[in-house]
Amino acid sequence: MFGLFKPVKIRSCNESRKYGVAAKDVKELLKKGCKLLQLPLAGAHVCLYADGTKVTEEFFPTLPDNTDLVLLCRGQTWSGVVCDIGQLLSADRHTEGLVEAAKGLLSDEQSPKRRKILTDLLLNLEDRSELESREEDEDWFKGVDVRFKTKSAYMKFNCESRIRGYMKELDEAAKTIQKTKVRAEFLKASKCLAEMLKTARYNGCYFNRTEKEPDRLCTQEGWFTCQGSFDQEVCQSLHSINPYGCRESRTIFSTWNLDHRIEKKRTVIPALLEALQNHKSTDVNLNYFYHLLFTRENLKLVHIVCHKKGAHSLLCDTKKIFTRASNTVKGKQKAGGKRRRLM
Ligand SMILES: [Zn+2]
Ligand SMILES: [Zn+2]
Repeated sequence: MFGLFKPVKIRSCNESRKYGVAAKDVKELLKKGCKLLQLPLAGAHVCLYADGTKVTEEFFPTLPDNTDLVLLCRGQTWSGVVCDIGQLLSADRHTEGLVEAAKGLLSDEQSPKRRKILTDLLLNLEDRSELESREEDEDWFKGVDVRFKTKSAYMKFNCESRIRGYMKELDEAAKTIQKTKVRAEFLKASKCLAEMLKTARYNGCYFNRTEKEPDRLCTQEGWFTCQGSFDQEVCQSLHSINPYGCRESRTIFSTWNLDHRIEKKRTVIPALLEALQNHKSTDVNLNYFYHLLFTRENLKLVHIVCHKKGAHSLLCDTKKIFTRASNTVKGKQKAGGKRRRLM
């Protein structure tokens, strides 16, 4: 008798809870299923949970026992597990339930791969980016100096520190200069650059979500999108992160890099040194070097995967290295010198 009945697992398309039902054909399954899930029988149909294939009377007897099925009402469709993912993403309201469910699954999950998927999911669900102050989100501030009262203030400082670091590298480069005169000019130049940077408040605005649109690199909520490696227009992997969301994201964000397209150490600093070998700092277009070293004109925020370590082979624009006035003056002097030598 029981052999005639096919046991299956059935659910509706907007609930993950499933029920065991046994039926001898689709007609009976629909009747039992609709009663169980309290759905109207007219127009109801069933399909495979895995990929949305419609279950017909012919197909039904061939199903393995306990196959996962979805019971749909008239007009409803199911494109398989993808639907679940879509619902997961739009289910902002059910976040707490989802977090609980994911934690439950994680607690007895053995597969490292599924553990990774679940922990990543939890990381993204437990998003507290809308909270801003230390009182609201104490956990986020663990290990952050007490002087920071808001997330934005800390993130601004984080950006400033990175950019101040570039200034330090410039000062380090000064120590390698042998000629006293050249070093003196270099120090003048670096002092001037430091002033410009101070006026721009070390461009801390790039990471500060409370700044106005063109000044910040993130959305109002704090989402940063990878700008793609130096030689690409966009990030193919669609990397994104919200360091304002939770402590772990804040920590991981430190592996994201502000990458100099025209490289700071390999190209920009040597070009500045070269320019100062036989020119005064006032003849050098420091505004150009400022933009190359410290601004988003030459900086790209990249995920560590999009941070290519090899040489970028991009050069400074030789037409921009010197100020306009000095370009023409030097040109004339050079020409004059040549002529004299020729005579
Ligand atoms: Zn990327
Ligand atoms: Zn780099």
